[in-house]
Formats: sequence, C-alpha cells, structure tokens
Amino acid sequence: MKNPREHSWSDGTEPHRIHQDGQLILHHRCIICGRDFAKEEGDGFWRAARVGLLKIEILPEDVNEQWIVEGSPGEILASDRTTLKSQASGHAPKLSNSCPRN
Ligand SMILES: [Zn+2]
Repeated sequence: MKNPREHSWSDGTEPHRIHQDGQLILHHRCIICGRDFAKEEGDGFWRAARVGLLKIEILPEDVNEQWIVEGSPGEILASDRTTLKSQASGHAPKLSNSCPRN
C-alpha cells in the first residue's frame, strides 16, 4: 500500500528542468498538497521551494527603440537571441521605473 504521506508529483518521476541564474534547477510540484520542491542538478536532496512570478525585465533604450519601430520581424531572429543573452546580466532598468512614451 502506498504511503499516504508520499507526494504525488505532477510530472511523474521526471521533474521540470529550469535554467535559472546559470544553474539547472529541477522542480517538482505535488498534485496533492501543492508543495514545490527544488534542487540543483546533481544535488542529493530536494528542498522546499517557492515558485515566484515570472521575472520581467525591461530592455535598454536602444533595443526598445528598435523593437518598437520595426514591429514584428515575422520570425524568430538569431540577433534577438544574441541581444537577449547580452542583456541577461541583470542591469536592465526596473519595470517600475520605465516611462511609457504614449
Ligand atoms: Zn504532497
């Protein structure tokens, strides 16, 4: 008989794999109690965790100008990926400090 205190993972035995701050984080959520657990790949133990809201960062003005002016390029651009990677340092202006232009 199954241990009633055993969690039941929403993804079975395969955890979510999330890249966060340069590390691969494994995440499990229990469909019974809703608790989240996470660990870095290679760690032996799961730790209690909280899944935060998506972190939204505003890109610098030069990228903003380009994206606003040119509209949708109609495809995923390799140059966008390069831009996003180069901006991933965490020094972008905060969302709350941005000034809408219209
Ligand atoms: Zn549980």
